[in-house]
Amino acid sequence: MISAVFASIDLGGTNIHAALARGDGSHVSEIKQPTRSHEGPEAVVRRMIEVIRSLAEQSAVKPSALGIGVPGLVDVGTGTTRFLPNMPTQWRGIEVRAMMEEALGFPVHVLNDARTATLGELVFGHGQSVRDLIFFTLGTGVGGGVVLDGRLRLGPLNAAGELGHQTVDPHGLPCSCGSQGCLETVASGPALAAEGVRLLLSGNAPRLHELCGGDLNRITAATVGQAASEGDEMVRRAIERMGAWIGIAAANIVSALHPRMIVLGGGVSKLGDLLLDPVRRTLHTRVGMFPTEDVEVRASQLGDKAGLLGGIALASRGAEFIPQLQPSIAS
Ligand SMILES: [Zn+2]
Repeated sequence: MISAVFASIDLGGTNIHAALARGDGSHVSEIKQPTRSHEGPEAVVRRMIEVIRSLAEQSAVKPSALGIGVPGLVDVGTGTTRFLPNMPTQWRGIEVRAMMEEALGFPVHVLNDARTATLGELVFGHGQSVRDLIFFTLGTGVGGGVVLDGRLRLGPLNAAGELGHQTVDPHGLPCSCGSQGCLETVASGPALAAEGVRLLLSGNAPRLHELCGGDLNRITAATVGQAASEGDEMVRRAIERMGAWIGIAAANIVSALHPRMIVLGGGVSKLGDLLLDPVRRTLHTRVGMFPTEDVEVRASQLGDKAGLLGGIALASRGAEFIPQLQPSIAS
């Protein structure tokens, strides 16, 4: 018997990344297309429908269901977007699920992208061995997801898990969410690149200067990480500071929930132990009330694939992990 195939979309401001995979996560096919978000939500939804249709045609399969991760808040029960802050018009009240189910004829589920990646890690990654897990996505922004007793904790507005918007510095920089000193202001890719720029301009990052050829536009979290591991001491300390901020955020959550594992995903997590070691040290120092040696801090097992595999998990097994998922009109 041929096993069922599921579809997944990771919707970003720049690209629509889609895949087909079997229920065990094994890859069938994959495609990436520009989102062209300036054309508005209806055009982007039409493009997502076309992308799934063309993937299904190429692979000569009919997906059993589709899971979509979107960059913002969504009503998980109805699949209607509430607020995608970085998309033009901000997608308030767009009935993504209803529009796509009508066109595609199979169930569609929609979830915040960081929570989708968390679900991917839970089903196909480190979550296979634990029932309580906290996931940070460290990229252009900082998102997250909370898994308790094997379930994704979404809360009444399906917005729980916004780990990047907890205050770590009461006097810190203004944040895109309206608050200030959020973790996102000090622990995102742009925050680290900005530290790299500052150190380069002050003459404290000679290796980074060589790596980017003096062109500040070429400084990324990746080049900063390379400079740190190739001898730039001040750059290494900047990554340590960032790890300490994340460690404070992790300690706050561990104090409240005592999960078995903290998982770091997203592009910035590729810094590896340069970042993870200070997170671990800070976590153990800042939780004073009980020992935290049993709380593991790990990089995502799925890496860049957490989002897409999360969509597959959402499509194939979402209801097992998300109580709010309502039966689909198309199922
Ligand atoms: Zn914030």
